[in-house]
Amino acid sequence: MEKILNYINGVLQEPSSKQYLDNYEPATGKVYSQVPDSDTQDVQQAIDAARAAFPAWSKTGLEERMMIMLKIADGIQNRFDEFVAAESKDNGKTLQLAAAMDIPRAISNFRFYASALQHFSAESHQTPGTAINYTLRQPIGVVGCISPWNLPLYLFSWKIAPALATGNCVVAKPSEITPYTAYLLSQVCIEAGLAKGVLNIIHGLGGKAGQAIIEHPEIKAISFTGGTETGKRIAATAAPMFKKLSLELGGKNPNLVFADCDFEETVKQSVRASFSNQGEICLCGSRIFIERSIYEKFKAAFVEQVKTLKVGDPNDAASNQGAIVSLAHKQKVLSYIQLATEEGGKILTGGHELKLEGRCADGYFIAPTVIEGLAYTCRTQQEEIFGPVVTLTPFDTEEEAITMANSVKYGLASSIWTNDLKRAHRIAEKIEAGIVWINCWLLRDLRTPFGGVKASGVGREGGFEAMKFFTEAKNICIKN
Ligand code: NAD
Repeated sequence: MEKILNYINGVLQEPSSKQYLDNYEPATGKVYSQVPDSDTQDVQQAIDAARAAFPAWSKTGLEERMMIMLKIADGIQNRFDEFVAAESKDNGKTLQLAAAMDIPRAISNFRFYASALQHFSAESHQTPGTAINYTLRQPIGVVGCISPWNLPLYLFSWKIAPALATGNCVVAKPSEITPYTAYLLSQVCIEAGLAKGVLNIIHGLGGKAGQAIIEHPEIKAISFTGGTETGKRIAATAAPMFKKLSLELGGKNPNLVFADCDFEETVKQSVRASFSNQGEICLCGSRIFIERSIYEKFKAAFVEQVKTLKVGDPNDAASNQGAIVSLAHKQKVLSYIQLATEEGGKILTGGHELKLEGRCADGYFIAPTVIEGLAYTCRTQQEEIFGPVVTLTPFDTEEEAITMANSVKYGLASSIWTNDLKRAHRIAEKIEAGIVWINCWLLRDLRTPFGGVKASGVGREGGFEAMKFFTEAKNICIKN
């Protein structure tokens, strides 16, 4: 069985313990590769390598740094089909989605920050008649990047690229559930000639390899994307050590549909926002609030479209939905569907797992599920399910819609569907979320600040925000 390897000091190597974890293909439920079960020894080696690489990497000329990052992007592009197949196999997402979103975005992340590093600059402040201040933005040193399983290479590269662009050396850990494209990335980095130790990729469990990274005193900053509970634990470890922290956490995003929306487009995009990647995107609009006058019409059209979604083998071009990422996650999602019925919800479509035939007979599949009749305060509407499950709830007034939208502990993203521009702006200001999409969903410009409020996180990624995070600002004051 194929063994994934750690990437430490420019070399692919086994974990020091020689212990491995099983890596499953969600569409078949079968183990298809082995992931290093790395521990503190591997992390220490990676940190030592990163520290040794830092002086040279941090002084590398901007053009040289840009060129190597572009080479990494090209390396992924040259092996595009291999990356797409690996991401789909590891995560359960369809090949089409990996080809249309995940891998192109990973390439863009490297290209975007390769270009951004040429334009990043710092401020100067003049104190009239007295002094001039300038800000020096210096790389931090060795930083930790930890990412989740839902958009594996997309999010992994979203952290690594700005960290490298700003002259840091990185110890990164992908999710142990979806390690494969990170392994391919380490091969690409070797092929591209990235200097040894600049990027180190450690595979393994969160509580073991991940914890060893975040609690190491030489890791000066941590960029983490994952669940809110994990974020809390990371903050508890890192805060007393005064590490810089960027936390991108869970969501329970509202989708507000007003009677004056473009109806067809709203239904179509709401289906996309609910079920893309089997609902396993932190930005998915999992709570749909609909103005009462169009509630029944919206419900009928929405459910009709959801019923046309084909759940199937991720390799099949006809499949709109692939497999749920793991057996444990499938069970979690099903338990929330059970909870919804206990809370009085009515299942309009879906509500059960699906048994496929042939290759995927033992895979993890759930029918896209639409539920109505639940109070907006119940657990099903308050807790993150992170699967193909969405709730429909009517509202009567704009104020009520905002109250419902803001009632959760999360505050990541939101969508508003209306043709009343004044209303859109009014609500956008009041929504407690880091991102408000008006008449769209998941329309991304990589220059914009990305992140959440409340339990959805601390700090912003994206554009120069990420580059500011990965640098320390130093004020130099020169008296006239
Ligand atoms: P998770 O929190 O279980 O794991 C995320 C990563 O953290 C994994 O690599 C894991 O191994 C590691 N980890 C776990 N415990 C750790 C510890 N003690 N120390 C260091 N690392 C540790 O999350 P998941 O289940 O992989 O991903 C799903 C979650 O991610 C959802 O809640 C989703 O909303 C969230 N998410 C958020 C965003 C965002 O941008 N805000 C994007 C995608 C996913």
